[in-house]
Amino acid sequence: MKPPVFDYVSPATLEEAIQALSAPDDGDVKVLAGGQSLVPLLNLRLSQPGLIVDINGLDELTGITEEAGYLTVGALVRQREAELSDVVRTACPLLHEAIPLIGHTAIRNRGTVGGSIAHADPAAELPTVAACLDAELVARGPGGERTIPAADFFTGFFTTALAEDEILTAVRVRSVGPATGAAYEEVARRHGDFAMAGVAAQVRLDGDTVAEARIAISGVDLAPVRATKAEAALAGRTVDDSILDEAADAAVADLSPSSDLHGSAAYRKHVAGVLIRKAVAAAAARAREAR
Ligand SMILES: Cc1cc2nc3c(=O)[nH]c(=O)nc-3n(C[C@H](O)[C@H](O)[C@H](O)COP(=O)(O)OP(=O)(O)OC[C@H]3O[C@@H](n4cnc5c(N)ncnc54)[C@H](O)[C@@H]3O)c2cc1C
Repeated sequence: MKPPVFDYVSPATLEEAIQALSAPDDGDVKVLAGGQSLVPLLNLRLSQPGLIVDINGLDELTGITEEAGYLTVGALVRQREAELSDVVRTACPLLHEAIPLIGHTAIRNRGTVGGSIAHADPAAELPTVAACLDAELVARGPGGERTIPAADFFTGFFTTALAEDEILTAVRVRSVGPATGAAYEEVARRHGDFAMAGVAAQVRLDGDTVAEARIAISGVDLAPVRATKAEAALAGRTVDDSILDEAADAAVADLSPSSDLHGSAAYRKHVAGVLIRKAVAAAAARAREAR
């Protein structure tokens, strides 16, 4: 299929892009980043914008920096660039672990970090990482810049707190310190497919006990789910099989996924529990190595 007819602009600055998004005459207006989700939606005519604002020329949205204990990734950074970045690997091992699970290399060459987060697919890896790490999502609109905590950003199924005339400009997370490990585990029918369920976990140890555990689950609700009860079950404990079971049971008890062609609700809950055990065990093992 071919996309519907639309107008197209390629602004040279962020200000121009925001002005274009605010233009009242063009009906639905869409930002184009890597196009790996938007272009299929256009071709299937599931999205029929009157205007496309191509942000690929905006250098302000590129770059990966680490400063004052925070990693900042520009919204337009290609997923492949972040995957290969040493700064990302050391400052945010969870992001480094998660990115290779997105589609295939060709897709990650074009797909952007910000595009995946703005798209807010409940099965996607990067929104789950953002929820797990309490990422700060930096947005710019006609009223200026604002920072949205991940907990407030993902508001529903493919829905975010971004206003129609706002652009996500960057993603910011706290850099990890010592004795911290991370893992991302998921189940997909084939490599590169969207996951049926996935778990992002980051564990910081104090000696042998868990000083802080962060866990988020994908594919089990309309948006990524933070497993706060499992995090609490792990805090101050030494990670062993019985604690992993306790944490997984605590997380799964609160989940009510829906059934679809890919798996029943009961199966998704089961998979989520298994993935929590695997991801937390792997993150804790890596944290022990990083002491
Ligand atoms: C075959 C295939 C397999 C895939 N597998 C996976 C997978 O396993 N996991 C996964 O997570 N993704 C997967 N994807 C999607 C891919 O990761 C996309 O890159 C991502 O979802 C969107 O990023 P993008 O830069 O391509 O955004 P686009 O497609 O350009 O945009 C997506 C949406 O976000 C909005 N948007 C983009 N950037 C901004 C911004 N800066 N500010 C405001 N709004 C913005 C757009 O308007 C649009 O609504 C797959 C895609 C394909 C084609």
